[in-house]
Amino acid sequence: MNILLLGPQGSGKGTQAKLIASARRLPHIASGEMLRSAMAAQTPFGLLVKPIVDAGELVSDTLMIGLIRERLEAADAHGGFILDGFPRNLAQAEALDAMLGEITRDLDVAFELQIPDELCIARLLRRAREEGRSDDTPEVIGRRLEIYHRETAPLVEYYRATGKLVSLHADLTIDEVAREIDEALGQAVGA
Ligand code: AMP
Repeated sequence: MNILLLGPQGSGKGTQAKLIASARRLPHIASGEMLRSAMAAQTPFGLLVKPIVDAGELVSDTLMIGLIRERLEAADAHGGFILDGFPRNLAQAEALDAMLGEITRDLDVAFELQIPDELCIARLLRRAREEGRSDDTPEVIGRRLEIYHRETAPLVEYYRATGKLVSLHADLTIDEVAREIDEALGQAVGA
């Protein structure tokens, strides 16, 4: 089962991806977490991307596509995956299609978590207090949402055109959203 989640920062994408991953035994491939762990380990790659991530800008497509390609090639992703945070723009979506095409696989579902910006901002500011993420400052949150609307939101139409898009309201409880995702997955892949 190959699943991806689209939605602005604070929509609950990461939380839902983790729930699906554990319920369905699929690897949760979260591009932002991969970057943050490289940053924390201060690898050359981590040091390179840190200023970009801290500013809320997008890391280059070349770097991100390479990172995700390598991750999808790992043995644990051969039976399926949940992508969270990638693709973030059209170039990345096209690269993902090409990668999946090479290994003759296809996406099953692209979920879109819909939520008003005000709620995202409130959730992210709360997370900032709880987790202290370096890119959860009010200015950087604003920048990340702006980039989401400009670069990532158009992917909703891209996936709608493939017939794989499932849009959900994400301003509900974690359990309610999880139930809707589960039902949609059942319908999409008969599981
Ligand atoms: P996230 O945890 O998904 O909110 O990502 C945190 C940050 O990592 C983003 O604000 C970007 O700076 C960077 N990032 C994560 N995924 C991508 C991606 N697919 N393309 C470019 N930058 C990314």
